[in-house]
Amino acid sequence: MDHQELETYFRSLDRSFFVENDMKKYANLDQPLPIGFGQTISQPSLVLEMTRLLSPEKDSKVLEIGTGSGFQTAILAKMSAKVFTVERIDVLMEKAKKRLEALNFSNVYYKIGDGSMGWQEYAPYDRIMVTAAARILPDALVSQLANGGRMVIPIGPPGLQELKLITKTVDGDVNIKTITMVRFVELKGQYGWTE
Ligand code: SAM
Repeated sequence: MDHQELETYFRSLDRSFFVENDMKKYANLDQPLPIGFGQTISQPSLVLEMTRLLSPEKDSKVLEIGTGSGFQTAILAKMSAKVFTVERIDVLMEKAKKRLEALNFSNVYYKIGDGSMGWQEYAPYDRIMVTAAARILPDALVSQLANGGRMVIPIGPPGLQELKLITKTVDGDVNIKTITMVRFVELKGQYGWTE
């Protein structure tokens, strides 16, 4: 991944575009902000850190779980070939899609549903980014990760989770590393927390 390109795009992206009017004045703060339905746009420094960790390449096919505002999606779409993004709340997805289309991204594919099950149809993915806290590591996501791929996922109970980096070797062996502690909203669904 070109780290300079990531930093430049990250700095150029206007976060106020991804939040509702009443939140725009807080957009420059390095904090999560509400986006409705009890969900949040993540803290910008964490979005940057997680993207560095995921390290998408120009030809990567990326699966993102938890579209939210579309802010992280825009960064992934800029840094990779295709982004398949899944969100369970249809209103959030519609708003995110409009924003990403307004930014002229034509390499983003959208699905409303339970992202804890991944998106089997287009698997395998070179990179998987999960931006909500899972209860356990979803088998479905591990099986949809390509050999040689990387997945970034917060795992743990509401309030505080471990941010995990999952890597798959070219032979398909899975390695799991804990990177830091984070606080995300819950991943709902089959491998998440109950609805
Ligand atoms: N990355 C987003 C951004 O840049 O705005 C923030 C994501 S927010 C912290 C987590 C999102 O995950 C919420 O929009 C929530 O609705 C979504 N979510 C939770 N469980 C999900 C599931 N099982 N499938 C898809 N999306 C889910």
